[in-house]
Amino acid sequence: MKCIFCSTELGPPIHKNLHECPGCGNRRIAPADIPSKDNAWRQNRSFMLRASSNKAKEAARLKDAHEGQLDLLEQYVKPGAVYDVGAAGGFFMKAARDRGWQVAGNELSASSVAWAKRAYDLDIDCCYLEDAGLPDGAFDAVVMWNVLEHVVDPVLTLRECHRILKPGGCILVKVPTKNAAELRRHFEWKHFTEFSRNGLDHVLKQAGFVRLVLERSAADKVSHTIALYRKPA
Ligand SMILES: [Zn+2]
Repeated sequence: MKCIFCSTELGPPIHKNLHECPGCGNRRIAPADIPSKDNAWRQNRSFMLRASSNKAKEAARLKDAHEGQLDLLEQYVKPGAVYDVGAAGGFFMKAARDRGWQVAGNELSASSVAWAKRAYDLDIDCCYLEDAGLPDGAFDAVVMWNVLEHVVDPVLTLRECHRILKPGGCILVKVPTKNAAELRRHFEWKHFTEFSRNGLDHVLKQAGFVRLVLERSAADKVSHTIALYRKPA
């Protein structure tokens, strides 16, 4: 069995059905356990319902994080059009709009989409990114908060982000990057990929991006990485 990211032969599982790639360092669920797109939607939707049962509290919890992420993004891109992939209840979109960004996004959970409409008057696409009918080169920035690990084909999704970005536009991604002990303590069956920092760099470059920032996110209990990359002009 070969790594889907770099084609290196994978070793035996390091935990449950999770295989680690000795080449790029990414860990991936065994192919037989990767669901179809429809089943992945169902899994992610039920995950979102549990994760965000109290959305007002969730919004308050994430406020400082989103302000910090916007501070970072605005060092590289002036406020323009931003697309939030997996926007949940629109918490980041609300924070970005308050700072002068034109915001759009998608989210698979219909209840989260409805909540964002009621609470913030946001119109979020309730579909997969690639089904949202977005034009080429429409956005100055794309963001993904804790989404790429839930995606069936991360490189395909990142290539779609690349397509909708303007030349010179930026992508800001946050994913968990757990060490081996954290993987065993916090095993998440609905994460199809557990990224290493090198492996995240590898998939972003595969999708055509150039690195600006790749660093540990300070705010979280479990290790996370923030990646800010640019689509070459
Ligand atoms: Zn690999």
